[in-house]
Amino acid sequence: MALPRDYTDQACSLARSLEIIGERWTLLIVRDAFYGVRRFGDFAAHLRVPRAVLADRLKSLTAEGVLNRVPGEARWEEYELTAKGVALWPVVRGLIAWGDDNYAPAGPRRLFRHHDDDGELDAVGRCAVCGADVPVQDIAIVPGPGLPPQTPDQDPVTAALATPHRMLRPVHPAAANARPQPAC
Ligand SMILES: [Zn+2]
Repeated sequence: MALPRDYTDQACSLARSLEIIGERWTLLIVRDAFYGVRRFGDFAAHLRVPRAVLADRLKSLTAEGVLNRVPGEARWEEYELTAKGVALWPVVRGLIAWGDDNYAPAGPRRLFRHHDDDGELDAVGRCAVCGADVPVQDIAIVPGPGLPPQTPDQDPVTAALATPHRMLRPVHPAAANARPQPAC
């Protein structure tokens, strides 16, 4: 017997949450949104997700109020996390930490630090230097020991995240490349 596609017979909140974020690719899209990816083309290039699947997932996340569609520069439309979306960070961070502990023999690909004092954050977001519970917007994403070396053909988002980057700050490699140089 084929499994049903959803959990409509389940009343619990975990089942309801998995309806939203449990589909393949969805949580990776949400993670990228935390890292500052906002454009369709940047999600597609970084995740190498089929474009039709990406369009479907972005539509679902927008319909559920996890992402907002907002006008970007020029003709670019962008997606940004809503407050409801930002509230998913402990889930994403917890799964990253679990993967780091169990499936990352070379070490984490990304480290998370407190932007203000460079303190390392533990899996629940507490700073080793000042002890604060660091809010998402004050977290810096830093390359970790498990990050593969840079290659010339890597996508622009991977290139942008090769140096420390403040969480939720837009990564706009395409716009940065396209912007004309100021005359001087
Ligand atoms: Zn700190």
